[in-house]
Amino acid sequence: MANIKVMDEILSNKIAAGEVVERCVSVVKELVENSIDAKATEITINLQEAGTKEIRVIDNGKGMDHDDAVICFQRHATSKLLSEDDLFRINTLGFRGEALPSIASVSEVILKTSLGNVGTIVNIKGGIVKSIENGDSRIGTIMTVKDLFYNTPARLKHMKSLYTELANITEYVNKIALSYPNIKFTLTNNDSVILKTDGRSDLLKTIKDIYGLEVAKKMFKVSKSNNDYTINGYIGYPEVNRTSRNHMITIVNGRVVRNSELNRTINDSYHSYKPDNRYPIVVLEIDVDPSLIDVNIHPTKMDIKFSKMDSLIELIDKMIKEVLDKKIIVPVFESKKEDNEVIDNLNDKINEKHDYYESALNFNEVKEDEPYVLINEDLIVKHDHCDCEKEIVVEEEKEEQRFPKMYPVGLIHGTFIVCQNDTGMYLIDEHAAMERVNLEKIEKQMKQKKHDTIALLVPITMELTNAEYIILKQNMKALEELDIEVEEFGVNSIIIKSHPTWIKKDYEEVIIRRIIETIIKEESNFDIDKFLRSIMAMAACKMSVRANTNISLLEMQQIIDELAKCNNPFNCAHGRPTMIFYPNYELLKLFKRTGFDIKN
Ligand code: ADP
Ligand code: MG
Repeated sequence: MANIKVMDEILSNKIAAGEVVERCVSVVKELVENSIDAKATEITINLQEAGTKEIRVIDNGKGMDHDDAVICFQRHATSKLLSEDDLFRINTLGFRGEALPSIASVSEVILKTSLGNVGTIVNIKGGIVKSIENGDSRIGTIMTVKDLFYNTPARLKHMKSLYTELANITEYVNKIALSYPNIKFTLTNNDSVILKTDGRSDLLKTIKDIYGLEVAKKMFKVSKSNNDYTINGYIGYPEVNRTSRNHMITIVNGRVVRNSELNRTINDSYHSYKPDNRYPIVVLEIDVDPSLIDVNIHPTKMDIKFSKMDSLIELIDKMIKEVLDKKIIVPVFESKKEDNEVIDNLNDKINEKHDYYESALNFNEVKEDEPYVLINEDLIVKHDHCDCEKEIVVEEEKEEQRFPKMYPVGLIHGTFIVCQNDTGMYLIDEHAAMERVNLEKIEKQMKQKKHDTIALLVPITMELTNAEYIILKQNMKALEELDIEVEEFGVNSIIIKSHPTWIKKDYEEVIIRRIIETIIKEESNFDIDKFLRSIMAMAACKMSVRANTNISLLEMQQIIDELAKCNNPFNCAHGRPTMIFYPNYELLKLFKRTGFDIKN
């Protein structure tokens, strides 16, 4: 007798559920994506107990007729993929026809749907249809999923705390809301509202709904394209950063994608503008011909493959760096909200220059039903230039705007240079400033094709273990590229004969040792550019004045002048700020002075 049997559909759905529905957020994701595919403009997600008790998704999409409402719970029932050709041109979020049968096999689902005439209500539990009735004629679909995993106790146990489930769902809904600013999303848990967006197609407004006003105020609009890709979106000021990588959001053809290479590219483009262990807030909408991507990697479909990844990486890197290098200005000290009424009184008193900062600050809170207006259009519009002629204008503005003229008046604790000009006061961290100046000098030297080298009078010898020796021998090219001349010297030993000039005297051994250690540690992952950056930062730091060194006004002016010439004068080699600006009106506010000129 044959042993092999074809499994029944309910069992195979349950197995598929193990892949497709891992936890509450997977159900929310599948249902919301179905609503989006059904062209809904309004999607409400109501949870009870973080979705463990109930998940209800209400949409105003096109709905289903009686037959579809029944068949949609069958395996591989989909309206979205009909032929093999379609697989390479997918422009819907779902296409496998696996989600509904999987969900229905591990919960109780009530589907209410209608095309506008007599509606249908299907009740299905553990994969078995319990009832099919007529329903009302509201166009759209309501999917209610109750008691998820009630019949798969192992999976139920696997669920984390309610807090974690809710956090995951919120994060997902935030991202999908950012991908679809044209859809009105509402998310509630136990009847309290967690997120509400207005669906008015304004990405910046959606960013505000999610991250709050303070973050939305500090975003640059970006837009760039090449032959393969078009990118639009917002990138955060470097100072608005987070400990988690989760806030770099990439949306490819309307699909939120989690791709570590894209995240790395975005984060690297911010290098030296922010500390390395913090990550920026970035929302990028990437449009690409669907035939250039492969979404068919995993049922949860968060990652995709790009066939022209290099072209995309180059575009993102260029786009972000261009904006940061041109648009970052001195961070402005901001006093707390309570003091804002004083600002209002001061508005007419302060001169034009202050208005620039004023407008940057005055991104007024939007009231519920008012049409959304961007108060700081000024700032935003500035970043919109894309044709060459205008680019040049921006370039010219840049010098004056980015690094204002300022005059030193003294030094605090041998550490902070105090400067002033007509618009206010600047505090400069002397060490951080020097570090930046030195970093850019080293970078310039390193960029020269062939570095000048110095032969060591007394060559340095280094002993390694046999395993280390083998790894190093495989990576000799890295040392060669750095112009460090090395020779084999007996068993498992090397001798260093010369090194490039950018390695300062007395630092030769420690720096070269670190280089070799890193090569050995990183083995095949050794990334020479990244490594050079960290070495340059270290060298720049070592070469910069220490705190508590008293210097003359003239020397302070020299530091300022050198800093002004830097590509990024506002951050030290490690991404910390070099200077902070206290506009006059902030100084006035601090002393509660109003209604008269600053000079009185
Ligand atoms: P897929 O989304 O991969 O096609 P699903 O199992 O998620 O598979 O859904 C099966 C089918 O049910 C979809 O192809 C669609 O035709 C229909 N459907 C599901 N949800 C909705 C909805 N909210 N509105 C309209 N049709 C829906
Ligand atoms: Mg689906």
